[in-house]
Amino acid sequence: MTEKSTLIDAEAGLIRVHRPADGTHIADLPLQQPAHVAECAARLRGAQPEWQRIGLARRIEWLRRYRQWIVDNTDLLLEIGAAEGGRVRNEPMLETTLLVELIDYYSRSAPKLLAPRRLRPRSPLVLGKKVTVNRYPYPLAGVIGAWNFPMLLTVGDALPALFAGSAVVLKPSEVTPLAVRELIRGWQHIGAPPVLDAVYGGGDLGAAVVDAADFVQFTGSVATGKRVLERAASTVTPVSLELGGKDPCLVLAGANLARAANCAVYGGFSNNGQVCMGFERVYVEDSVYDEFVEMVRTRVLALRSGTEPGSDVGALTFAPQLDIVDAQVRDAVERGARVLTGGHRVERAGTWYAPTVLVDVDHSMAVMREETFGPVLPIVRVADAEEAIRFANDTEFGLSATIFATDDRQAERIAARLEVGAVNINDFLINMTCVDAPQGGWKTSGIGARGAEYGLLKFTRTKVVAQSRIPAGDREINWFPYTPARFRAFRSAIRLVHGRGLGRFGL
Ligand code: NDP
Repeated sequence: MTEKSTLIDAEAGLIRVHRPADGTHIADLPLQQPAHVAECAARLRGAQPEWQRIGLARRIEWLRRYRQWIVDNTDLLLEIGAAEGGRVRNEPMLETTLLVELIDYYSRSAPKLLAPRRLRPRSPLVLGKKVTVNRYPYPLAGVIGAWNFPMLLTVGDALPALFAGSAVVLKPSEVTPLAVRELIRGWQHIGAPPVLDAVYGGGDLGAAVVDAADFVQFTGSVATGKRVLERAASTVTPVSLELGGKDPCLVLAGANLARAANCAVYGGFSNNGQVCMGFERVYVEDSVYDEFVEMVRTRVLALRSGTEPGSDVGALTFAPQLDIVDAQVRDAVERGARVLTGGHRVERAGTWYAPTVLVDVDHSMAVMREETFGPVLPIVRVADAEEAIRFANDTEFGLSATIFATDDRQAERIAARLEVGAVNINDFLINMTCVDAPQGGWKTSGIGARGAEYGLLKFTRTKVVAQSRIPAGDREINWFPYTPARFRAFRSAIRLVHGRGLGRFGL
């Protein structure tokens, strides 16, 4: 999204982590160099074969022990996550909860998903053959994560890879490395095999991870995602990309407006708007527009800013985000938008921006086209559902969307027409909190998905083993030599299988 080098003190060889809520210094981490990635990757590769060899049942045991460590240390993780992110504790709690959910889900589902699959081929070309599909892990997965949910987007994505039998090198954002470092300590603390580690530094380390890994799981901006894709192309390394969004929220006449307003405020301002699938555009049908806007305005005014318990909205995690948010709001105002609440930085230590509601916005404004990733909710009046759908799809992004409506059938029909990877009806983020569901973006928002079987199987390669079910003769009917008699026999066999009625017998 933006340069983050402010946090890297190259001269001192340190990553300097500050508390976004008040700008105070929390900790320094040694700044690692790309060469360290190669060393870490070699170490992890050395440990991976044994991790694969012990089998899924033993790996599940280790992951369940790790689950227990996470549960026992949740308060510590929340404290670190809140401090380094400037966030209210409820937000990192979503992360720790999902880590546990992921371990539970894959403990249950991985045995079936990873088991060899025996095919029942019907083709005459494979008559009498036994064909089995086996899964083998990529030896080393590289997981590169963004700073907004640093635990979930690194360790959360590493979990399925560990189930699959891969070793994993994590590259957390230099902005929020501390909770990840604690989670790595947790893995070591339980005495688990040394197949999970992290490297700490800037984007150059991310690039080195792409070079070192056999599979890359990346979460971040579209711009960096493209760089990852380009870099991975040179070694034909497969990648899964979870990128930015500009998610729309459609409010139709007849919807439960109180729920829609409560949800719009939560979807727009939870984690201070720094949610890839947060609401960044709201389209409201004309007949309910005024009432809805007033409901949103009063609810946003009631939000409590702070990081102490009982607060709703924290600081912006990453200082340069302030400039992006401010520039988009100013651009919108210059082009005719009206600020209903907020619209300015908050003059206090740390990185604070007042929760902002904008109206009279249109698609010529950056705030409606580019990812904001901050506490800004622009609301647009639309004539009807058709116009809302047209606007919702008028974007390069396609992560998710929400529809508020009373008529479920109408909402489902609209859902089918939205160009996104998920639609929540009268709700927000369920596609992400439901780990059984795939979470992936359309258009520039990504390639691949996390969650469900996709989140696990992508860390594996298939290997097909084919053999005869019955003792094989010296040659198959379709091998050399191509004699006329063998051709006729093969032709008859194919006609028998592919033909219909008497045609099967050439009649
Ligand atoms: P960035 O793209 O700036 O960074 C993401 C990660 O990539 C960071 O760890 C970063 O390291 C690293 N990186 C930077 N340069 C390179 C490179 N050349 N090669 C490999 N890795 C590199 O994103 P942000 O951290 O700013 O995160 C915000 C973005 O993430 C938003 O666009 C948001 O929508 C998206 N996101 C998407 C989600 C999804 O599931 N689709 C979920 C959450 C966020 P460093 O920070 O140290 O520079």
